[in-house]
Amino acid sequence: MGGTGVAERFLRPLADMSLAARRQVRFVLCDIDDTLTLEGRLPACAYTALEQLRQAKFTVIPVTGRPAGWCDHIARMWPVEAVVGENGAFYFRHDDARRRMVREYWNDAFRRGDERRRLDEIAIEVCREVPGAAVAADQGFRHTDLAIDYREDVAPLGPEAVARIVAIFEAAGATAKVSSIHVNGWFGDHDKRRMVERLLRDVFAHDLAADPDPVVFVGDSPNDAPLFAGLPNSVGVANVMDFADTLDPPPAWVTSRPGGHGFAELAEALLSARD
Ligand SMILES: [Mg+2]
Repeated sequence: MGGTGVAERFLRPLADMSLAARRQVRFVLCDIDDTLTLEGRLPACAYTALEQLRQAKFTVIPVTGRPAGWCDHIARMWPVEAVVGENGAFYFRHDDARRRMVREYWNDAFRRGDERRRLDEIAIEVCREVPGAAVAADQGFRHTDLAIDYREDVAPLGPEAVARIVAIFEAAGATAKVSSIHVNGWFGDHDKRRMVERLLRDVFAHDLAADPDPVVFVGDSPNDAPLFAGLPNSVGVANVMDFADTLDPPPAWVTSRPGGHGFAELAEALLSARD
């Protein structure tokens, strides 16, 4: 370490990222909630940034806890190459040349059916044991996981309630991750990082572990930590500081602006490096 503290190695201002580092970037991976969005909406500047990145031949891939139903729409209509959804349970990619959707799941269909039944039981237990928690409004569009709402459509719950929800998932043998609005739980050894590695390898012939420099990932919360890890170009939008104490690890860089405005700031930094 040589006396280099955490504060010096992480969460440096994005404006300090070198031109050389920005010029190497070819893949832009991004969380959606509170990273592309701001206060629950997708601002025009964030969508414009996605479109400009794609026009400049960056490979743009949203990586989210959001459900399969949303991801079908995103893969088909947004200016992106693919989308990883439900915390790494699958990627969807619209093959424009063949005019068909490619859907690749981590677990096979038989296993997903069994897991669905076990998650339904967990949902009943959480709603009984944690007052104020609810099954997320987007649950009906999910294929593989259970999302518990703790502050999207319900009155915000405190950290003790969130910890209780996580404990119920873990006691049932599930993995649980806390996003800025939901606690997501699932069975299986996948996460956002592992599915991103599979997608980059299988579709784009890129080995993330061996060659992380061409990849930027931008996020905002603890459930993004698997993708902050080991990426020299990991970025948090400004509101990532709300979770500064619980990020393990934190991102290397942080934007000055929050949510989608921070994403637009990152896009500008990458696009201007190509001029
Ligand atoms: Mg988020």
